Amino acid sequence: MNQKQKLMLAKAAMEASKNAYHPVTRTAAGAALMTREGSVYTGCNVQSVISGLGCCAERCAIYNAVAHGAYNYKAIAVYFPTKNGAKPCGACLQLISEFAQVAKTDIRILMVNNEGRIIAESTVNKMLPGAYGPRTAGKKLAAYEKNRD
Ligand SMILES: [Zn+2]
Repeated sequence: MNQKQKLMLAKAAMEASKNAYHPVTRTAAGAALMTREGSVYTGCNVQSVISGLGCCAERCAIYNAVAHGAYNYKAIAVYFPTKNGAKPCGACLQLISEFAQVAKTDIRILMVNNEGRIIAESTVNKMLPGAYGPRTAGKKLAAYEKNRD
């Protein structure tokens, strides 16, 4: 993944945050997911006044991609509107890890701050090493090994 793609993904994550539904925390987060072929799917945080109903931007981006038949990702940018940005939460890392197992690859994670700058970079396998997932559970994933988008 080249620098131009990284910057494009960071910008897409920041743009996606503008659609966040965040009446609880008033914090708008965004995420942008890039498929192996270079398609981009975005997500934003969706909160609820009912405890447990909200969803982080990263998982929304994955749900958006899956709804379009895209299952194989190479990177996700995570925008969080603070100087230091934020890392994905444990639940998001688990779901990103699930799709790393689907694609039999690692997925790059770009942390983007309030100015839209990439301030940290890692991978899901580094951030959640040894994660339990569909392959470790012996699930058949052939139907998802190629994008249908
Ligand atoms: Zn999360």
